[in-house]
Amino acid sequence: MLWMRIKYRLGLIYKTILFKLGLGKLLLKNRYGERILLFHGIDAIGETKYNSRFISKAFFEEFIKYITTHYNVISLDDFYQNKFKKGTLNIAITFDDGYLNNYKYAVPILEKYNIPACFYITTIHEKAPYLWADFLDLVSYHTEKTSVVFERNLYQKSAKKEFIWNKISIKNVAKALPYDVLKMIYQVFEDDWKALPTEDLKDYWKLMNAKQIKEIADNPLFTIGAHGETHASLIDIPLAAAKQEILNSKKQLETICNQPITEFAFPFGFYNQELADYCSEIGFERLLLVDYNTKEDVKNEAWKNRFVMNPYISLEQQLACLLKGSYF
Ligand SMILES: [Zn+2]
Repeated sequence: MLWMRIKYRLGLIYKTILFKLGLGKLLLKNRYGERILLFHGIDAIGETKYNSRFISKAFFEEFIKYITTHYNVISLDDFYQNKFKKGTLNIAITFDDGYLNNYKYAVPILEKYNIPACFYITTIHEKAPYLWADFLDLVSYHTEKTSVVFERNLYQKSAKKEFIWNKISIKNVAKALPYDVLKMIYQVFEDDWKALPTEDLKDYWKLMNAKQIKEIADNPLFTIGAHGETHASLIDIPLAAAKQEILNSKKQLETICNQPITEFAFPFGFYNQELADYCSEIGFERLLLVDYNTKEDVKNEAWKNRFVMNPYISLEQQLACLLKGSYF
């Protein structure tokens, strides 16, 4: 682990120097190709204290401006049809989770530069006003509690402001639970949530409503895909519950958007063959991942991996890692 961290740091320094010297092209050597980028949230300032999901709107605009000028940014439709330009990087843009901040900050910037994007929406809004992960990040950070009990286990607050039991964080436990059990977690931190200035923090938890999702779906630049109903890790919850999540998210979005929803992005990027088969069976034509499970999976043309944006590094470092296709 230590060696990987050193390698990561040295790699970033090397890439930054090349980029600053105008030698970014050296990084491109044999590295032309294609990437689907994965964004989550955009906020006003690029807050990283809660989690790694938010980059600032200024960074986002700088990044979009750069890739529009220097590379070939295309729609996911064109990406899936391999309509790539040779000798450059071909890029498609995706967003996961369905944050209101996507509608507020990202959409106007994407429209300004005429950049297509796909938004993969978690349809939890019919059960709760937030994603449980954002709820947990915000209450864990701000609460004065030093321990809580959930499902009869005692979780202690760590220096990193996470609640840990048996070396596992409450978030990692939560993601493997069916929603009926998971939702009890809201009660554990109910008073902490009420004490938060939630309106001031809205960039970090508010989701798009049906009207905003429909507006994006109706914009010819954008498409809507599904991302599960409650953002559970579908490979960890019971199979029947996982299938229900996939089906419900499709149906709910089809009702909202009044159009077929044919793309599915697996929450956390976690997938298996059985779930992927089920997705195809009910009409999902494109399955978006993070990493492929096996080398064989790369050959499946419906499945695509994605490059996750990193909020902890500079624009030059982000561009250099993007060119390389890896953070190492
Ligand atoms: Zn997600």
